[in-house]
Amino acid sequence: MTHYTYQDILHHINMPSQYLGTEINAVKKDPDKVKLRIALAFPDLYEIGMSHFGMQILYSTLNRQTDIAAERVFCPSIDMHQKLREKKVPLLSLESATPLKSFDIIGFSLLYELNYTNILTILELSQMPFLAEERGELYPLIIAGGPCVCNPEPVAKIFDAMVFGDGEEVCLQMAQKFMECKKDGIPEKSEILKQWSAIEGVYIPSFFSDNIIKIENSEIIVPAPLHENYKIITKALVKDLNKAHFPENPVVPFGKPVHDRLRMEIGRGCTRGCRFCQAGMIYRPVRERHSDTIFDLLQKCICSTGYEDISLMSLSTGDYSGIQNLLENLMSNYQKEHIAVSFPSLRAGTLTSSLMEQIKRVRKTGFTIAPEAGSQRLRNVINKNITEDQIVETIHDAIKAGWKAIKLYFMIGLPTETEYDIIETINFIKNIRKIKGLEKSNFKINAGFTTFIPKPHTPFQWAGQAPLEYSKEVISRIKKELTSKSIQVKWQQPETSRIEGLFARGDRKLANLLVHAFENGCRLDGWSDHFNYVKWIKSTENSNIDINFYTTREKCMDEPLAWDHMNSRIHKRFFMEEWCKAIKEKTIIDCREGYCHQCGVCDFKNIQPMLNKTEIRLEQNNIIEDKEEKQPQKIVVVYSKMGQGKYFGHLELVNIFLRAMRRTGIPIQFSKGFHPMPKISFEDPLPLGMESEEERFFISVDQSVDHKDMARQLASTLPEGIAVKECQVVDKAFKDENPNLVSYFIELEDDYFSDTILENYLKCETFNLVKTGKKGKTRILNLKNIIEDIKILDQKKLLLITTGEPGKKLRPSEIIKNIFGLSETSIHKARIVKLSVRKGENVQAIGY
Ligand code: SF4
Repeated sequence: MTHYTYQDILHHINMPSQYLGTEINAVKKDPDKVKLRIALAFPDLYEIGMSHFGMQILYSTLNRQTDIAAERVFCPSIDMHQKLREKKVPLLSLESATPLKSFDIIGFSLLYELNYTNILTILELSQMPFLAEERGELYPLIIAGGPCVCNPEPVAKIFDAMVFGDGEEVCLQMAQKFMECKKDGIPEKSEILKQWSAIEGVYIPSFFSDNIIKIENSEIIVPAPLHENYKIITKALVKDLNKAHFPENPVVPFGKPVHDRLRMEIGRGCTRGCRFCQAGMIYRPVRERHSDTIFDLLQKCICSTGYEDISLMSLSTGDYSGIQNLLENLMSNYQKEHIAVSFPSLRAGTLTSSLMEQIKRVRKTGFTIAPEAGSQRLRNVINKNITEDQIVETIHDAIKAGWKAIKLYFMIGLPTETEYDIIETINFIKNIRKIKGLEKSNFKINAGFTTFIPKPHTPFQWAGQAPLEYSKEVISRIKKELTSKSIQVKWQQPETSRIEGLFARGDRKLANLLVHAFENGCRLDGWSDHFNYVKWIKSTENSNIDINFYTTREKCMDEPLAWDHMNSRIHKRFFMEEWCKAIKEKTIIDCREGYCHQCGVCDFKNIQPMLNKTEIRLEQNNIIEDKEEKQPQKIVVVYSKMGQGKYFGHLELVNIFLRAMRRTGIPIQFSKGFHPMPKISFEDPLPLGMESEEERFFISVDQSVDHKDMARQLASTLPEGIAVKECQVVDKAFKDENPNLVSYFIELEDDYFSDTILENYLKCETFNLVKTGKKGKTRILNLKNIIEDIKILDQKKLLLITTGEPGKKLRPSEIIKNIFGLSETSIHKARIVKLSVRKGENVQAIGY
């Protein structure tokens, strides 16, 4: 098998660290020592995929098994995609750089319909046919899970199997079946699929035929079962979250993921019954994790990751039973360590002033409310049971607690929306400015608008989506009306909502459209800077798809739906009743408090809402804040950044070190004030791609820290390429004795250093070059005043020693480019290592 690597590619790529696979807690297993290899594929960029908690659960669940190796792969960024094609390198897994074709199973997470073209990107770069029926026995089994599987049909033809519902138990059952089949030699795919079809929640698309049904002047494909005892796929459900596996060692991503914090799922499911919310329906019933379990898990996760932020996740975090007790205890425990706790978004009404007081104890995290609709009438239609008074009161409390900005989310085009509702929304936002204390303040309101998309398995699954023109008109009107400087209006392009809506309620016919769109160049459609509506429209025309038939048309309740064979455990009758109540503007109450609306999910024997009944009681000495002022000491940390370490940007490196310190329990000192920051300062940051034998940073830690221990501890918990050489206590006012020299070893890959050119340079009295600053200002620098020594070691290797004096610093790449007239490509490919050669040292003795 050819051994591929990304080595020749990464120095051309933005954010190269995302392709290294050497993050803290990444699991690397010897492929020869496992029975099953699974690639977990996320069809979006690393920064999104690594923020997805579900992938961390599956990764950890599978890797706990000694005979299974789960690795990760993400949709590459556009620059990486181009390079992979150009160099004919297949997409590789992060952990072992294995081409995806060599895995037994590839499992995709489907969270968002606009990620679907990225599935094809991953398959194409892995040289695999798109459709399951075109992949023979030699290809891996390709499976999918995630919320989009509740209507799997638009992508069903791509996958061999799909998992509907909670995946953590099902993935293990599937893995087990696979390994059992493999015991007797390489199993036929059909045999494995047959075995998998017996697992609750597993959908095998090829076990259903394309049943074409005429509707109005068009037709849809409704899957028809081919096997008598395999007609309905019932959602898999983890009944008790407390017994489910939780990743105690989540992978800590490099770079800047969207959610760069420890994510703690405190509950799954929601009892509110918002009629537009697919997640609120398909994750029923509510299952809360015990607060003492949460507390224990967080302790372990903080130790294993070193995160400085915790996010308490659930569909409605403020509804969690005992949230006040949980938060109080978390804050008391983590305040002294400067670890912040945040919520993704909260319902007005649940965000009480006492909760806000807790949240702001460490850092004020974002503050978001989602009224969804601006009029009470429309909020009744969607069953969003909050009043304008509750929203106003919440904002009022937030202002009192010191928040300076708020985010509000609204939808436009909700069922039954009229002119009245639009005016109410505009007035609602304008009126926030009139809240007491806000009139003259610089409080900012960010109002976000998206077009409502009717989703399967909700009471609005029959509703018509607002036409594109309508959404555009409403957004333009809102923009015109809300012109105050303190109000910022943001919106999602209605065109993206149109394509998302198409795939959300689409059928198997859309597979053809998807391939057309991909071939037309549609990529990373969830990113507004990549989404290309014109290409999508062209593709729908080429594949004969009428978007309006799938989106704006209101469906009859007796019309067969493409997802009727997917049983979310909620009765269709319940959705129908809720749809009728919505039209009549009738609300229903939360089922949390025991009032069951008999949606069908709970049997009240094995499945029922599970609320947290425990309270955390911290030991008194844990709760008491550490009032005693700790004496600081300043430590200089000397480290090297070699090999893969050169791919870490400066900010990444700061994070890597700070988190390493938290993992080892080294108590860092923080600045005082409103936003306490760790007292850490780095010497001149290295440019991305440059190696260095010796770099330094200074950090203030408690006096109790033994610097030798610190070096040893840090060395044990850093990613490949970063190594701590020593830690020394220095005086507060420490200054380097010999800061004026910086030495570099420069090695060219496919060019050489000319002795004649160097001799010419050495003969010159002055060698000026013009340097342009960030603001376009130019200045002339004489290299003769900057270069202390320059020697060609052999034709491809050069040693350069420069002064490090302020105002005389130049990048080594700039210097050699100007002296030797090297091309950008040669410069780009050059290996540049910063060395620790000092004045008077013999340069030949440095080992390069
Ligand atoms: S069956 Fe009743 S209690 Fe269970 S989720 Fe549905 S409405 Fe709530």
